[in-house]
Amino acid sequence: MDKTVGVLGGGQLGRMLVEAANLLEVKVNFLDAGRSSAKQVSNHDDHIDGSFKDPEAVQKLAAKSDVVTIEIEHVNTEILEQIADQTDVQPHWKTIRTIQDKYLQKELLKSHGVAIAQSLPLDAPTAEDLEKAGKAVGLPLMLKSRKEAYDGKGNFPVRTKDDFAPALEALGGNKNLYAEKWANFRMELAVMVVKTKEQVLSFPTVETIHENSICKLTYAPARGVSDTVNSQAQELARKAVACFDGKGVFGVEMFLLQDGALLINEIAPRPHNSGHYTIEACPVSQYEAHLRAILDLPLHTEDLELREPAIMLNILGGDTPDSHRKFAAEALKHRRTRIHLYGKGQARKGRKMGHITVCAPTMSEAETIIQPMIDYVDQANP
Ligand code: ATP
Ligand code: MG
Ligand code: MG
Repeated sequence: MDKTVGVLGGGQLGRMLVEAANLLEVKVNFLDAGRSSAKQVSNHDDHIDGSFKDPEAVQKLAAKSDVVTIEIEHVNTEILEQIADQTDVQPHWKTIRTIQDKYLQKELLKSHGVAIAQSLPLDAPTAEDLEKAGKAVGLPLMLKSRKEAYDGKGNFPVRTKDDFAPALEALGGNKNLYAEKWANFRMELAVMVVKTKEQVLSFPTVETIHENSICKLTYAPARGVSDTVNSQAQELARKAVACFDGKGVFGVEMFLLQDGALLINEIAPRPHNSGHYTIEACPVSQYEAHLRAILDLPLHTEDLELREPAIMLNILGGDTPDSHRKFAAEALKHRRTRIHLYGKGQARKGRKMGHITVCAPTMSEAETIIQPMIDYVDQANP
């Protein structure tokens, strides 16, 4: 517990990570802008103000930290490779390098026999290339940026050949794309996996609902999923994460297809939006689990069990700079509702500003409690 952790990025994931670290008196140094979310709840002089993409700043962070980790995968892995000589980088920089390129990530998973959607690399594609890709993987397909993708930015659904031009206009500025076979899913599932020094453990299988490609809701446990599918999802998620080197928490997103088959959508090498619910719903949260994993502190399978059904609803920026705070004030009126605001100041439309979690003795009770809050969000963002 006397090791210092350095984190590239200081957004909401870092903020919730340091909230967990504070309880263990684990010191965490963040590299990000001065007033970033995470630094606001961690008062000491060893944070670094700057960009986590700046090599010099990363060097400085490494010099002050025993273990360096990330809260975002879009980092410079050349620098991580360099600092790995002097400090412990977790998860391994190779893991971050592979995962940050969604196509390489899928290739690696495929080579280990992990089920993924068929994917074709497209280097600076033309409309003709898209036509060929459409023949190979079928239409519709999802055109995706290999790198720098988040919240669906970097994805473009190509339904017919009329979408070729708009898709290339939207993503064509980014040369490295790939085409992914359309997953006609029944639902989306996610599992947070923890890779420790000697084990690969998993949190429960949850159901995620995305709107406009951004995670909106998480239901823990996933509703209406058989025990078989549940355990298959757990196994698939652990098998996928076992393909990567290093320690820490990984968010595994999956598609449950109409025929019951499971495919990996993507993996994040860090705590994840679909694991926020663990703060209230599990004995050890994904954030604390990440710390325990990278610091070689004890972690038990039972620590990751669900205590009570939970539903998480994201609070996105709306039409006014304070819409998220108005929503939080409204949500506060409801019983069993935990509010998390991220301290990001003024909202931009669609930006993640906070989330709420409702835990209840049964899923149906949690659904009843949260429904008016879902209605509120839907009315504000029709
Ligand atoms: P994140 O913020 O999770 O990192 P991202 O920008 O990397 O998101 P993806 O996870 O690739 O984006 O896709 C976002 C959402 O778009 C998925 O959760 C799913 O709802 C939809 N989607 C992605 N790929 C496909 C596909 N092949 N077929 C159908 N829907 C898809
Ligand atoms: Mg992603
Ligand atoms: Mg995703």
